[in-house]
Amino acid sequence: MPVKHCESAVVVENKPLGNGIFKMIVWWPYPAEAGQFFMVRGWDKFPLLSRPISVHDADGERVTFLYEVRGEGTRILSEKKPGESVELSGPVGNGFPVEKIKGKVAVVSGGIGIAPLLLAVKSLSGCEVTLCCGFRNQSYALDSFKPYVQEIRVATDSGKEGHKGFVTDLFDPADFDVVITCGPEVMMEKLAKSCIAKKVPCYVSMERHMACGVGACLGCTHHTAHGAKCICKDGPVFEGEEIYA
Ligand SMILES: Cc1cc2nc3c(=O)[nH]c(=O)nc-3n(C[C@H](O)[C@H](O)[C@H](O)COP(=O)(O)OP(=O)(O)OC[C@H]3O[C@@H](n4cnc5c(N)ncnc54)[C@H](O)[C@@H]3O)c2cc1C
Repeated sequence: MPVKHCESAVVVENKPLGNGIFKMIVWWPYPAEAGQFFMVRGWDKFPLLSRPISVHDADGERVTFLYEVRGEGTRILSEKKPGESVELSGPVGNGFPVEKIKGKVAVVSGGIGIAPLLLAVKSLSGCEVTLCCGFRNQSYALDSFKPYVQEIRVATDSGKEGHKGFVTDLFDPADFDVVITCGPEVMMEKLAKSCIAKKVPCYVSMERHMACGVGACLGCTHHTAHGAKCICKDGPVFEGEEIYA
């Protein structure tokens, strides 16, 4: 597990991808694993809390974040210019168990839930990966996935791109050995329950409001099959059965 650091990181690039989505690259000369996240802040006093943002990509020199502007914190991040700094605390959390994942893998995202899945697919070895992703209107960030996946299937709510409907319409978990997913909880619940019924292992990356990011405040406690767990410290990645069985 990579060691956690709390440091300023210089912004290399912070590019709008359209529809309020940004890709930020920062200098970060430490390792980070697929499914881990950082507590990020780009401001002094307000907002009070740092914001959890997943590792989209990492190469031991730079970390990339893919984020959607939601409120004040992500708005401030979106205004950062190359050469300015953000404060990072991390990487934190338990990510995807990539070494255990083998065979045909469905990687399933809803909206900005696609963020942690790039490093996940890059970290899988010897797998045949199908990326199924759902967006409101229009896809983003898919070019980065192309070298690492065999197939990409897209669904949009509006039908503007790909299948009009739910991302879960795009595949049958029974056709895969493993499913990994990140997105809205309602989507992950539906998917995890279908995987449980079909006895297909499924890993879900939970996104909860959280304050400290290290399991101290218990603000993101969730009831699981193995008792109460902190999404930040014990997750954010869990076996689907642990959360939804
Ligand atoms: C482990 C983890 C990893 C995450 N990774 C990413 C990522 O890679 N990219 C990304 O864009 N976002 C990610 N998020 C969500 C991100 O942390 C929130 O969107 C961000 O904190 C919003 O901050 P804000 O100040 O801009 O908005 P706020 O003013 O705090 O909130 C704006 C709106 O977003 C909602 N919101 C805030 N936090 C969450 C949350 N955790 N889940 C659902 N709704 C929320 C609020 O209810 C409100 O409606 C992640 C969250 C978690 C817990």
